[in-house]
Amino acid sequence: MALLLYGMSECEICGKVIFEGEPVVLFPAFFVGEHPELELFNDSAFHRECVFAHSLGKEAILKLHPDISQE
Ligand SMILES: [Zn+2]
Repeated sequence: MALLLYGMSECEICGKVIFEGEPVVLFPAFFVGEHPELELFNDSAFHRECVFAHSLGKEAILKLHPDISQE
């Protein structure tokens, strides 16, 4: 699973630092060959709203994080 350091780690989508208290989604490391289009999400941390706003965000959650509810 991605390592998240609040106040230091940057969201890979918006490029802004993630602060404690912000809703986040962490993605695990996966074999990119299985989901080459989702490489951006490999082993990374994101703001939850950035993931849902991203064109591939829902697909990433569906494939890599089926436990997270879709809104
Ligand atoms: Zn973000």
